Amino acid sequence: MTIQLKELYDTAAIQKLDTAHYMHPFTDHQALGEKGARVMVRGEGIYLWDSEGNKILDGMSGLWCVNVGYGRKSISDAVYRQMETLPFYNSFFNTTNVPAVLLANKLSAISPPQFNHVYFTGSGSEANDTNLRMVRRYWDVLGFKERHTIISRHNSYHGSTVAGASLGGMTDMHAQGGLPIPGIVHIGQPNYLESGRGMTEAEFGIEAASWLEQKILEVGAEKVAAFIGEPVQGAGGVIIPPATYWPEIQRICDKYGILLIADEVICGFGRLGRWFASEMFGIRPDLITFAKGVTSGYIPLGGVLVGDRVADVLIKQGGEFNHGFTYSGHPVACAAALENIRILEEEKLIERVADDTGPYLKQRFAELADHPLVGYADSCGFVAGLNLVRTKADNPHDNVAFDSALGVGMVCRGHMFGNGMIMRAVGDRMIIAPPLVMTREQIDEMITLIRRCLDLTHADIKQRGWL
Ligand code: PMP
Repeated sequence: MTIQLKELYDTAAIQKLDTAHYMHPFTDHQALGEKGARVMVRGEGIYLWDSEGNKILDGMSGLWCVNVGYGRKSISDAVYRQMETLPFYNSFFNTTNVPAVLLANKLSAISPPQFNHVYFTGSGSEANDTNLRMVRRYWDVLGFKERHTIISRHNSYHGSTVAGASLGGMTDMHAQGGLPIPGIVHIGQPNYLESGRGMTEAEFGIEAASWLEQKILEVGAEKVAAFIGEPVQGAGGVIIPPATYWPEIQRICDKYGILLIADEVICGFGRLGRWFASEMFGIRPDLITFAKGVTSGYIPLGGVLVGDRVADVLIKQGGEFNHGFTYSGHPVACAAALENIRILEEEKLIERVADDTGPYLKQRFAELADHPLVGYADSCGFVAGLNLVRTKADNPHDNVAFDSALGVGMVCRGHMFGNGMIMRAVGDRMIIAPPLVMTREQIDEMITLIRRCLDLTHADIKQRGWL
């Protein structure tokens, strides 16, 4: 079947072609084929439009990435100019390109002081594959051939490549394809609601961090290369750790000389009101994974910020590191990133999230906790989540959850999606990560929309007899 340009907005035709040929990420195609995919055709600011002309408030910034909002002409202009000048050249064989050099320089300037080198990749997953190879190489060069194990956490997300999915702690992913690969082990996540009963948040943070020390001792410190974690877990459901957690993790890594990798694919580039979340959580990572917000998703780009501890060994003692991608340092992607960073700086978007819109979102989002379905609502910068519960209690640990098989979160997501609001469901936790350009007025508009959709969900599940 061919499709003519004039038919591009013929939703049924596009859906038919979509079903026939397009395999989507993380999708049950049988189920999708029955209802047909929603076709997104345009974006402007915080809004999207679908092929039916519906306007949708994008509470998820695409996929945690469109930090500067949709429709930035200066980014498309920068991309166009670079495409005309030099659309591609690789960085192998003693060559380089100007946007990649400028971006590496810029990233060194805006990242914490220990970062002065960048390794570019095409995505966050590739960046975490790079981390795995890089930390093992680091220890090899230093003569510690045994130090190969990487410790990660259950319910973390580090990508979909073999190493990324292995580093991640998603049981559904591990269940397919024989993962995790050897040399990667997992500890519990710092999820206060799930595991912190009977403790204060501060006590639980220390307790959750102690699981790292236990695992190090179990594996043998001389075999552990690194610990990896998202400062705030994203895909796992916006799990915001207690303030005591990360400093204690840092202390344990220091005690055993273990490298610390902060996966900031979501948290970086202003999402939490800092260039990098590591700056606000009291950690000094040796490596930072980035992607998404570096270009606001306009062009794929990822990479690893390589701290001096690792860079010095690899550069001064390591010789050739046998690793790299065709698109490492892609000039067009780097040009997009440079313009994206310029916008973040010029419009003071990160300061705005830190001092104005972030605190305002926190206040407005917390108000949703008075809704009969909402058992717990919390936020950090421009990520937030709320738990849909059957019965609320004063102590959130005593809330009664819905039977997970009912899929209340998916029902809620359906009402959101059908009423012009994109809010993601992770089980029965509903999460958002709005574009950083969102204004106070737009936060009000979003909270009103969310509340209306929560009401619709409430009425719906009551009618189904689930309440
Ligand atoms: N790490 C984290 C924390 C992520 O959230 C993601 C993507 N959601 C990745 C890694 C993988 O990035 P990509 O999809 O670009 O490969």
